[in-house]
Amino acid sequence: MSFKSLGLSDALLRAISKKGYTTPSPIQAKAIPLVLERKDVLASAQTGTGKTAGFTLPMLQLLSQQPPLRKRPIRALILTPTRELAAQVYANVKEYSTFLDIRSTVIFGGVNARPQIATLRNGVDILVATPGRLLDLHSQKALSLAKVEMLVLDEADRMLDMGFLRDIKRVIELVPKRRQNLLFSATFSKDIKKLAQSILHHPVSVEA
Ligand code: AMP
Repeated sequence: MSFKSLGLSDALLRAISKKGYTTPSPIQAKAIPLVLERKDVLASAQTGTGKTAGFTLPMLQLLSQQPPLRKRPIRALILTPTRELAAQVYANVKEYSTFLDIRSTVIFGGVNARPQIATLRNGVDILVATPGRLLDLHSQKALSLAKVEMLVLDEADRMLDMGFLRDIKRVIELVPKRRQNLLFSATFSKDIKKLAQSILHHPVSVEA
């Protein structure tokens, strides 16, 4: 199994080899082709399995296949429970998009919002965000989610543990109905299953 055989573009393969990866991890081998087929995916994966590349690589491929929209509205939204995870996911997005014309940024609470707002104003294709700061900046009209075509909930179980259910539901009301959804979680409680049911459309389940 190789990254090339998963259907990834040369620009992504270059970024992957720059990172030093030679073989896709099991979750990557399973999730990448499904995401490229624009399926909704419900993934059971812990940190350390390579799940981040499992959703960012195919996301970058799908977005880079279409010409960027004129004002660079947010087309992909990645929600994470903590600022640490948001920063880590964003670092991955940046590295994998080295050879692509894709703009991305990250927003989270606990820091001054002004630089985040300034970056958003220039337009980004991919936004990595924690739920609270996302809704805060949305209510300030610093960002629009009206053009989101891809939504990722990363570590969804931790988001529920941290009390973000209401925020997630509000975000769902702000993104278009027609979109691709990916939900990653280490555990599958009744609440996670209920959330998945309400967000995902005929999802394919994969395990790391
Ligand atoms: P994650 O589970 O996404 O947090 O990734 C865990 C670690 O594995 C990170 O340090 C990644 O850079 C690394 N990683 C991800 N995919 C691969 C791969 N295919 N081969 C080697 N390392 C990888």
